[in-house]
Amino acid sequence: MAVPKSKITRSRRGQRRSHDSLVAANPNECPSCGELKRPHHVCPSCGHYADREVVALVDDVDLDDDAA
Ligand SMILES: [Zn+2]
Repeated sequence: MAVPKSKITRSRRGQRRSHDSLVAANPNECPSCGELKRPHHVCPSCGHYADREVVALVDDVDLDDDAA
C-alpha cells in the first residue's frame, strides 16, 4: 500500500529493509567434471545430473547429419 514518504519513520523503513539483503549462492561441486554448479540443477558445463548425462552439449551434437 502506498504511504507518503514523510509518514514513514526511520525505524519503520529500517524494519522493512532488514529483509532486503541478498543471500549468497551455495554452489556444489559437480561430481563428474568438478565445476561449481547450483544444487539440484543440471551442470551447465558438462550436462550431467546425478552421475548421468541428461543434456547433450552443443559440441557433441552433429547438426550436419541431415543436411547432406
Ligand atoms: Zn559437470
